[in-house]
Amino acid sequence: MGRRLTHHTPLRPRRVMGPAMETIVSCANCFRRERWPASAPVEVLQPGGGRQPSQVPQKARGLNALKALEEGRAVVGICSACGQPLVLESGEAEPQTLEIPAPVGTLRITPEGAFLDRQPLDIEGARAWLEEQYPAPPMGGVLEGAVRLPFFAVLLGPLALWVLAVILVVARIVTIAQGIAPEVEGAPGFDGRVQPVKNIPED
Ligand SMILES: [Zn+2]
Repeated sequence: MGRRLTHHTPLRPRRVMGPAMETIVSCANCFRRERWPASAPVEVLQPGGGRQPSQVPQKARGLNALKALEEGRAVVGICSACGQPLVLESGEAEPQTLEIPAPVGTLRITPEGAFLDRQPLDIEGARAWLEEQYPAPPMGGVLEGAVRLPFFAVLLGPLALWVLAVILVVARIVTIAQGIAPEVEGAPGFDGRVQPVKNIPED
């Protein structure tokens, strides 16, 4: 079981004989990539940091760590650019345990799996717990709806008018074709030019 992560503390990869595979880590959220040489400072390959998590940072950290766990990738640190998990791409580094504090309880995501108060949770259960502890803010939905509604109104307005126009034209054509166009001048819809194709008196 790894150490608890409190800050960015890359661990030195285990020394192996022969040409060791480079230890490369990447952020699960932004595009930061680092090379962790065995005996040198961390080398930043890509600074990243441009993408902030779309969720509450703690929740995002948990979700990203669970995704890594699901994919069998080791969480080996915390991104110094955005605070989200760093995942091992190649080489070796000690897997870490993340603790996600929530209003009720603390979720621990270890290399062996997720635990809630020492009780193991499967990945779906852990995700559900995070959603429950950190529900999406209702204001986000309201604002989103407020932005979307006019957008769809703008799209649907002309479409509705067009459909209505088509229906009226078709109805008119059908009326003429059936020979029951209004015969009386001045009746609604009579334009004085349209002659019925057939005139079948009803009575
Ligand atoms: Zn990052």
